[in-house]
Amino acid sequence: MITENYVTLEFPAVPENVEFARTVVACFASQIDSFTLEEIDDVKLVVSEAVSNTVLHSYGVSRGIVRLSAVRNGDVLRVTIEDFGKGIADVEQAKEPAFTTDPDRMGMGFTIMEALSDELHVSSVPGEGVKVEIRKSPRGTAKSSEEPET
Ligand code: ATP
Ligand code: MG
Repeated sequence: MITENYVTLEFPAVPENVEFARTVVACFASQIDSFTLEEIDDVKLVVSEAVSNTVLHSYGVSRGIVRLSAVRNGDVLRVTIEDFGKGIADVEQAKEPAFTTDPDRMGMGFTIMEALSDELHVSSVPGEGVKVEIRKSPRGTAKSSEEPET
């Protein structure tokens, strides 16, 4: 059985592609057998938050691209979501709970991403874009055989 795999995608930062991206990554992540459905849902939510951010914050009225990659190495899933928009001046501040530059939003995206992944790394060069990297592995690696898998 294959244990190393990857997918890379590029698509425009438009709302329609939020659902697309999270579905693709969920499908890819489910190749790691020991992920629970709940953990796959976590991955979906993290990807939605990151891709939504590119749609909402990175390009303003113009439309740019999102580059997404998902890599599987054994039981380790790494997902990178990158845009080439305006970037974030202060990443630490942006990651604080309830920090937002949009009064209509909650400012909880990065907090959710951090809570649901094993590791979150956000980097940005203002004017050049944002790169969000997450890592996630199944919690229970040694699952008992009677545990339902579906
Ligand atoms: P919510 O995610 O709850 O809808 P939000 O998107 O404002 O609200 P976060 O996802 O935590 O909250 O992001 C915090 C802030 O970081 C945003 O308000 C925005 O200013 C900035 N930001 C996040 N992602 C990007 C991005 N890809 N490009 C530019 N700025 C970003
Ligand atoms: Mg957000």
